[in-house]
Amino acid sequence: MTLRGRSPRRGDSLSKLGLVRDGAVLACDGKILAAGHRKQVERLPAAKRAEKFDVGGRVILPGFVDSHTHLIHAASRAEEYELKIQGASYEEIARKGGGILNSVKKLRAATREALKGRAAAALSEFAAHGTTTLEAKSGYGLDVASELKILRLHRELNEEQPLEIVSTFLGAHVVPAEFRGKPDGAERYLALLIEKLLPEIVIGDLAEYCDVFCDRGAFTLAQSKQLLTKAKEHGLAPRLHAEQLSRTGATQLAVELEAASCDHLEHVNDADIRGLARSDTVATLLPGCDFHLGLKGYAPARKLIEAGAIVGLATDYNPGTSPTMSMPMVLSLACTQLQLTPAEATTAATINAAYSLGRDKAVGSLEPGKQADLAVWDVEDYREIPYYFGMNLCWMTMKRGEIIWMKD
Ligand SMILES: [Zn+2]
Repeated sequence: MTLRGRSPRRGDSLSKLGLVRDGAVLACDGKILAAGHRKQVERLPAAKRAEKFDVGGRVILPGFVDSHTHLIHAASRAEEYELKIQGASYEEIARKGGGILNSVKKLRAATREALKGRAAAALSEFAAHGTTTLEAKSGYGLDVASELKILRLHRELNEEQPLEIVSTFLGAHVVPAEFRGKPDGAERYLALLIEKLLPEIVIGDLAEYCDVFCDRGAFTLAQSKQLLTKAKEHGLAPRLHAEQLSRTGATQLAVELEAASCDHLEHVNDADIRGLARSDTVATLLPGCDFHLGLKGYAPARKLIEAGAIVGLATDYNPGTSPTMSMPMVLSLACTQLQLTPAEATTAATINAAYSLGRDKAVGSLEPGKQADLAVWDVEDYREIPYYFGMNLCWMTMKRGEIIWMKD
């Protein structure tokens, strides 16, 4: 599956997979020279000198691009998982000091080495599930030193292991405990982010994007706008956690600010959908989150696609609401819960996700000039990737022409 053609994809073009039967990919120095019919590719002069690697008739896809993860955190929240099963809501747990603040406490106490080790293990797991590029958000530090620690780890990990990490600053995840319960606590915290953290991030070139959790119990629309506008002035493009627990108007704000991506969208209304459809902001859907929380109100994916919005898919890998590194599982959920076809889900998880990270000219499809980032699947038909749920059928993952993971 080459997914060749224009990006981003909207409407019917989400189903155009560029399928090639008996295909081959020719790569050199980490880049694709050709991707197409095997006989044609084999006739190329560069192919004559190439080392041949037979994948035995398996299905080849571009590597998945996971455009929403909270990679760096200190520990799981399995104890809250049990509380939720027994009836406590996500917001009740958060009010009792659980939720994100629980992760913040653990992250601040963790050593750099421990955080890095945990993230490195997660990155190997992402690669084993066919992901070759991912976005990573800070947001469990929520003070100057801890947020910078996370963002510096993004950079170190980017240099020391094969997956590409796109760094996002999410200092506005929630208001940290030390600022809570005071009348102007949230404002004072935002001032800290704007005056102290943003300049440090820009000087250190530590993030490409700035994200805000705009929702009940997190940040208001006005606060989100204030921070994202400042971040944009500093050259950090906006992303938003929008309309997850309630409708706040964050989607309209994302459109107004020309955000790269607007994520979650469980509570969007028709006007929000029309706004997204007219914009170049990607509607990134995170069905793993609703699945893990046991929520029934998934985002209206079909309406978004039919209106013409650019739909993307991501894991939202995080310890509280979506503890998975598996894009194949996200595809299964997208098919059964969001009613995407396997073709639409695949496009959303590759080229459209790449577009949301400003990487669609480099990754997200198998085309000459792009990076040789691909995953080989042990299936006869690409639809079997979401069809077999909760299993990993990835056989091999390649990043920039190097095999970075292979099934035993
Ligand atoms: Zn998130």
